[in-house]
Amino acid sequence: MNPGASGQRRFRYAPTPTRELHVGNGLAALIGWAAARSVGGAFALRIEDIDRTRSRPELAAAALDDLRWLGVDWDEGPDVGGAFGPYVQSERMARYDAALAELDARGLVYACQCSRADVRAAMSAPHLQLGGEAPYAGTCRPTHDGPRALAEDRGGYRLDVVSLGDAAVVQLEDAWLGPVTEDVRETCGDFLLGRPDAPTYQLAVVTDDIAMGITDVVRGHDLAGSTARQVLLYRAFGGAVPRFAHHPLLVDEQGQKLSKRDGALALSELRKSQMAPGELRARLGAAVGLWGADVRRAAARDFIEALREVGPAGGPEPTVDGRPASGEIRAGAWHDGAWPT
Ligand code: GLU
Repeated sequence: MNPGASGQRRFRYAPTPTRELHVGNGLAALIGWAAARSVGGAFALRIEDIDRTRSRPELAAAALDDLRWLGVDWDEGPDVGGAFGPYVQSERMARYDAALAELDARGLVYACQCSRADVRAAMSAPHLQLGGEAPYAGTCRPTHDGPRALAEDRGGYRLDVVSLGDAAVVQLEDAWLGPVTEDVRETCGDFLLGRPDAPTYQLAVVTDDIAMGITDVVRGHDLAGSTARQVLLYRAFGGAVPRFAHHPLLVDEQGQKLSKRDGALALSELRKSQMAPGELRARLGAAVGLWGADVRRAAARDFIEALREVGPAGGPEPTVDGRPASGEIRAGAWHDGAWPT
């Protein structure tokens, strides 16, 4: 099946089963789901478990249960199948190896003898890791006698960003954040893609989003720093760049991002405490300004209605690489709301 052949917009939610889902993850799923449903789009669920030492299958199963309890449903996913499966990344490893080989064959990557630990760390999504980090110093950039292949299964391949020149500058219109410009040479430099059987998050997510025909990436603000690198990968693969929308994160009373370590806010704990899903949805919607704190119960479909009402606001058409990318909810209607206690 040709992704996107139907013309239907395609969204996904992609949890990593290393910890239980917390209320912030629940809100992200509801927003992604409602954004999809508000435009009649398809919604896929993909389990991102390439970090096989930290991922646990029982947490993936629990995530599906928690999301259903919250009122989120999906058209495609590990439990329901679909035309673009499998929907579990650990079952897609050969695809990432093929993607890496394709980039290698086209001379877009080089082998880097950095430690295994660097590849390991890059298997997880880099939530808010950008900023203050120096770009890759280019230690392993190819020289005449430099490394052509990985020694003893160590290190990984890097995308040769520096050689892209000005093409390493990414400009896009994020549907929540507005215009974004990033020169990846300055922010990251040549970034890691992993090695055979050990892809990084960046390689796996773009390989899958292209293969699954994803047209809309709606996810938390903490992943915004990955977008420019991912756009470079879309271009390298010749894939259509999706619309990006990075929504505000739910924060705690101190204004800090919620952490999965904060067990009290796990969806499973709220379920055990007999909280009604409608009450949680009401609080989540209020926390991001969809309705007032006086709303006691909300249905999942109330998110669809509320998102329809708030966007898209006026202003210029959002674009990605100069192409229209409109139809999302605009940033102005949202704010970082403290999680109400
Ligand atoms: N799997 C990532 C996470 O756990 C999300 C990836 C994405 O949405 O691009 O946050």
